[in-house]
Amino acid sequence: MRAGKTVLLMFLLPAFLMLVLSLLIGFFSLNSLRSQYIESSDIQAEDLQTLHMESIFKRDISELHSRVVTMLDGARKHQFTDIQLYREHSQLVNDLAEIQQLVDGLAESNLLKEVNHNSVKGLQQSFSDYRSLAIMATEIAAIDPDTAGSFFAQAQTSFNQFSIFTGRISILLTDRTMLREQRARARHERAFVHIFIFGLVGTLLVLLMVFAIAYRVSGHVRDIADALSKLSYNTEDELRLPAIERLKNTSRGEFGRIASALLGFRDDMERRIQAEKENHRLIFYDALTGLPNRRLLEEQLRYAAGASSRVSNYHALLWLDIDRFKTINDIRGHQAGDQLLVSFADTIRLLLKEGDLLARVGGDEFAILLELPQGLKSEAAMEAERVALDICSSVAKVYEVEGHSHYLTVSIGIELFSDKTLSSDDLLNQAEVAKYQAKDAGRNRVSFYDPSIQAEINRRAELGNELRTAMERHELRLFYQLQYDQAARPIGAEALLRWQHTQRGLVSPADFIPLAEDTGLIIPMGEWVIVTACELLAQWQEGEQTRDLQLAVNVSAKQFLQPKFVEMVLQTLQQTGARADRLKLELTESAVLEDIEQAIHKMQQLRQQGVSFAMDDFGTGYSSLQYLKRLPLDQIKIDQSFVRDIVEDPDDAVIIRTIIAMGQALSIEVIAEGVETAEQRDLLLSYGCLRYQGYLFTRPLPINECMVLLKTE
Ligand code: C2E
Ligand code: MG
Ligand code: MG
Repeated sequence: MRAGKTVLLMFLLPAFLMLVLSLLIGFFSLNSLRSQYIESSDIQAEDLQTLHMESIFKRDISELHSRVVTMLDGARKHQFTDIQLYREHSQLVNDLAEIQQLVDGLAESNLLKEVNHNSVKGLQQSFSDYRSLAIMATEIAAIDPDTAGSFFAQAQTSFNQFSIFTGRISILLTDRTMLREQRARARHERAFVHIFIFGLVGTLLVLLMVFAIAYRVSGHVRDIADALSKLSYNTEDELRLPAIERLKNTSRGEFGRIASALLGFRDDMERRIQAEKENHRLIFYDALTGLPNRRLLEEQLRYAAGASSRVSNYHALLWLDIDRFKTINDIRGHQAGDQLLVSFADTIRLLLKEGDLLARVGGDEFAILLELPQGLKSEAAMEAERVALDICSSVAKVYEVEGHSHYLTVSIGIELFSDKTLSSDDLLNQAEVAKYQAKDAGRNRVSFYDPSIQAEINRRAELGNELRTAMERHELRLFYQLQYDQAARPIGAEALLRWQHTQRGLVSPADFIPLAEDTGLIIPMGEWVIVTACELLAQWQEGEQTRDLQLAVNVSAKQFLQPKFVEMVLQTLQQTGARADRLKLELTESAVLEDIEQAIHKMQQLRQQGVSFAMDDFGTGYSSLQYLKRLPLDQIKIDQSFVRDIVEDPDDAVIIRTIIAMGQALSIEVIAEGVETAEQRDLLLSYGCLRYQGYLFTRPLPINECMVLLKTE
């Protein structure tokens, strides 16, 4: 693969810059050294020339001076002829003229000019004197040696003088040369410092540039990596990549090209996702209402059946069919029909909670998939029915379409399911069958597919209606089940409600208490129970055998949560004359935990008057020490489900022992419910439970039978 220009440039640029910097530094250093070298060697050459001239001068003048001495001496001793003397004189004159040139040359030299002007002038002056005197002395040496001698003596003085000058000049010249040498070295050092600083600054600048380039490149690479990871995880049809858009606009070369390619890839991806979504919408959604269609519902049904079988709760499939929709379609046309369907769908949508699925499964048919939290089939069925009835009543209204009013109702079929045994097709078919049943039953109603559920629902509906009149007709009774201590002595009784139905006979509270709670009838009913129980307590106070018995009354959560509950109990005690300390109220965890602070407050108010409290069905709920510790309780009732299996199931035995231990730790009395066998009682006794209630001793009985039993005890 060929490397691109920009990338190559980015990687080569630092190396190139370093190279340029090194070349520049090298060039400047060499150039500076060269010019300094040339300059100093010129000066040195000149200085040497001057020194050379000076030494020649010294040598020549000494030689000449000796010749003068020899000549004058010879003249005095008449050793030379006049001709010889004259020749020698002429020669000396010439030589002195040459030396004069040397002296002038010296005086003109830069070195001497710089050194000491006076010394040079002194040298010139004394040499000039010496020259004149030496010429005069040698000129008259043949004629008058004595006068020549006196001239020579004066010349000697001048000679001595310029000898001093030349000596001084020699020293000055040497000093001067050394000074120049020092200056040259200092210049070198300065040049070195300059080059060093230049190199350092240059290197720093290059490093800075390299860092800036590296930072920029790594920023681009990081942006590209981020964009790639966003692209690979993207599921949205709109993905913003601002960093890459900036890169595309600001970078040419490879990074610009990569950015363009990424943006192109992103655009393709967005188009593909949009197309997929559109496809998905067309496949799984209804074009008119925008609701999921039958296909999506089938998918969800498969999933829901799987989920239900795993978590053991229920789902309900509701099939909704608008009553007599065909007539509207025929009379007002399809467009009006469509509008009506949209308004209808909107109305239902508002009634559902998050997680429920509303789908359009046919022309005027809709389906709803409900997830029901209830674990019990009957409760789940009731909830499904409640939702369906709610829909029936909410959609039953007048719809305005194209200036005409239409009153719509709906028939709903319900299929309740909790496992995977049925296919989604089967579930839909059965819900549809149930819908036909609702239609057949007269429209605008709800019907379950499962006949047993339907029967149960019908029975409950009937019972609910009858329960309303039961109180007025005095069909409610209280039965009493005695409670015993470890010596099988009766210590009290629990009041248990019965409904003496004219056709059905005795109806169990398990059947009608939930109904009474749903309808709110539990409030007057519970009040009646407390009043009746207190009246019995007042009677018991009169009897010797019954005086010390405690009577336990069940209180439902809804009843206990009534703001005037405490007031009502205290008023009843007062009106009936029953002793508060003989009355025990049985609460369930649900009654207490709804609002624990409020519950504690109410319990304390009643306890102050002597009323005691038992926690019913203990062990089936939260049963935590945390809250138990806070509640002002007198008794815990071990739920009969644990007692039932105490002999066979070691787990239940452990639970019971734990409950007993908790009771002992908190000084709360423990009583076992549902004791049916002596074996159970013995085991309970061995664990430390000293109070019992159950068929082993007696079943719940009407008051007269209970009294007979008490008398025979
Ligand atoms: P609960 O308060 O736990 O009452 C004990 C239930 O166990 C009673 O059922 C009783 O008949 C039954 N039972 C007692 N001994 C045995 C036994 O040895 N074996 C078996 N298998 N069962 C035994 P019942 O009378 O059908 O009452 C059911 C529930 O209805 C009560 O459970 C209580 O929660 C509620 N209830 C009864 N009367 C009233 C009432 O006046 N008000 C309210 N709110 N609830 C009531
Ligand atoms: Mg009870
Ligand atoms: Mg109980």
